[in-house]
Amino acid sequence: MGRTITDYFGSQVFDDRVMRANLSAEVYASLRKTIDEGSELDLRVANAVADAMKRWAVEKGATHFTHWFQPLTGITAEKHDSFISPAPDGSVIMEFSGKELIKGEPDASSFPSGGLRATFEARGYTAWDPTSYAFIKGKTLCIPTAFCSYGGPALDKKTPLLRSMEVLSKQALRILRLFGNDSARRVVSSVGPEQEYFLISKEMYDQRPDLRFTGRTLFGAKPPKGQELDDHYFGVIKPGVAAFMEDLNDELWKLGILAKTEHNEVAPAQHELAPIYSTTNVATDHNQLTMEIMQKVAAKHGLVCLLHEKPFAGVNGSGKHNNWSIATDSGQNLLSPGDTPYENAQFLLFLCAVIKAVDDYQDLLRISVATAGNDHRLGANEAPPAVISMFLGDELNAVLEAIETDTPYRGTEKTLMKLGVDVLPAFSRDTTDRNRTSPFAFTGNKFEFRMLGSSNSIACANIMLNSAVAESLRIYADRLEKANDFETALHEMIKKTIKDHKRIIFNGNGYDDAWIEEATKKRGLLNYKTTADCMPHLLDEKNVQMLTGLGVFTVEELRSRRDIMLENYCKSVRIEANTMVNMVHKRVAPAITRFTADLAKQMAEKRAIFPDLACAYESELIVRLSALTDSILVKCNELSKAIEGLEGAEDIVSEAYLIRDTVLPAMAGLRVPCDDAEILVGKTYWPFPTYGDILFSVR
Ligand code: ADP
Ligand code: MG
Repeated sequence: MGRTITDYFGSQVFDDRVMRANLSAEVYASLRKTIDEGSELDLRVANAVADAMKRWAVEKGATHFTHWFQPLTGITAEKHDSFISPAPDGSVIMEFSGKELIKGEPDASSFPSGGLRATFEARGYTAWDPTSYAFIKGKTLCIPTAFCSYGGPALDKKTPLLRSMEVLSKQALRILRLFGNDSARRVVSSVGPEQEYFLISKEMYDQRPDLRFTGRTLFGAKPPKGQELDDHYFGVIKPGVAAFMEDLNDELWKLGILAKTEHNEVAPAQHELAPIYSTTNVATDHNQLTMEIMQKVAAKHGLVCLLHEKPFAGVNGSGKHNNWSIATDSGQNLLSPGDTPYENAQFLLFLCAVIKAVDDYQDLLRISVATAGNDHRLGANEAPPAVISMFLGDELNAVLEAIETDTPYRGTEKTLMKLGVDVLPAFSRDTTDRNRTSPFAFTGNKFEFRMLGSSNSIACANIMLNSAVAESLRIYADRLEKANDFETALHEMIKKTIKDHKRIIFNGNGYDDAWIEEATKKRGLLNYKTTADCMPHLLDEKNVQMLTGLGVFTVEELRSRRDIMLENYCKSVRIEANTMVNMVHKRVAPAITRFTADLAKQMAEKRAIFPDLACAYESELIVRLSALTDSILVKCNELSKAIEGLEGAEDIVSEAYLIRDTVLPAMAGLRVPCDDAEILVGKTYWPFPTYGDILFSVR
């Protein structure tokens, strides 16, 4: 009612404004130092912060607090404790201490640890991350935390993400010092994640066990109208969807989330939300919150928000675009070409660091987005492909080529492209943003990593990206710090990087089969089509060396993560397979046989009156549907056998291979006769809503 966004933006967040207003100058300064520079917080300050936080939260109606963390399940976890504490007179007071703020001890035995806790202690603890503001959700004060086991190993996604930001900052600063920058104190990686999702009616959703149990449809024939008209992309937003978006924005804004852009996506019922970018850590927390709140707000509107990567076969799936850049604490974007030749040389070096990182660690980037759900996009018939390549745009490409070959850039006007002499053109979005099929595209002053699945936490991708780039920078800094002639060494190194790593640069159409052929056969790029293919490579020597060398992971942490990720993969496909078998026996097969029996009855009734009638319609359908049910039986038995076969797997890697080689193909095989039957069976007989019903269900 007349309230403008600025009135309530961040109203549920214990942000800088609130801190400044509610903390003493001394406590505020000390906390700010912790947030900005990572310095340690003493308990006295923590007590003061906790008290202010509690008073602020209680005033806003909060009754509980929780350490909000991101275990390896990929979603967030919280355990609520109320603020109450008994007083001698039988009443209660509201209490919250610095100790409770800094450290929590959730009973964590049921979170996946990949065997880590067994070797250490059974319990884990959570530790406050002051770089991400506390906020109120419902009636609970949520404190963003890291989650570790006693003895150290991280059991969550935030801890390695923070470590990766730290190492990236450290190595980038070394480079900046070489370029004479003595003032920068930190280098920060930032992300703006664009989030895709489907919105369908709850009524339809409730009738589909596959959607309820697995998040995607396991059956469903192609609807008469799909996305072929391209009439949905950027189309007019329907009133039901607009009401949802309005509500969603309000909720996100209250939590200080910079929701900015919203539009319809390519597929019917598909939409996108993009926030304004923030530091990787905060962006990760905010993206997790966004996904949670999308589902809550949808429920209020009688809708369901599907975050699965591929809810509908034959219809575009949903991804997430991770727009990533690095900048100094004073805001200088290191991926932006500068105004002077010296700044340009620095830009080119950071650019090369990313090129080298993406080429050297293609496997880690692929692994960072690998889930059973995302396998339906990557490596299947959808963009981007599972092969990682980089798009730089024509202009930048020409610059790199000129440097590599010592040839003039831009014809005769400019002579040799010489670092320290020539100024680069500013790369406009027009020239860099044309390619929408590249998995990793330079878009003027940032890179857009497009392989993430819509339900992925963005933590993993950014951990690998930050680490791999930090590693390139470390190698560069090691060499340049020792060089006698900095400029010559710099020029040589940039040239060498281009020579060694140009195979990863590809400016053509990433959807093209010919590209996959060229990428894998001629260029030797990796093509891991499934999670089972890529995940074991997390433990490859070079990856372990890089990640442990930088201190982002320990070997134990890597081993446990590989196991957990493979377990997640196997479990989710198992649930899908079991759901399919169940739906066939309980719903699909009975519906087909009932329809067939009714046809036979009808035919008999007609013939009783008109003995000479051909009844071609009935008899043909009866024959076709009977054949289909027979085939369904055979395929369903095959799937059941494949599921049973998993029991024989020796370890998680071989189970993942069995899933890939036996279960998933059997599921695909079973789906075919079921979908064929759907087209033939009468509407009132079919046991659940069809694609057409679901995709066009929201008004
Ligand atoms: P699109 O890719 O849909 O055309 P934009 O390029 O405008 O849209 O923005 C996509 C996302 O990239 C937004 O979340 C935006 O905040 C983010 N972004 C813009 N600049 C940067 C940057 N320097 N670093 C990280 N993310 C950025
Ligand atoms: Mg984009």
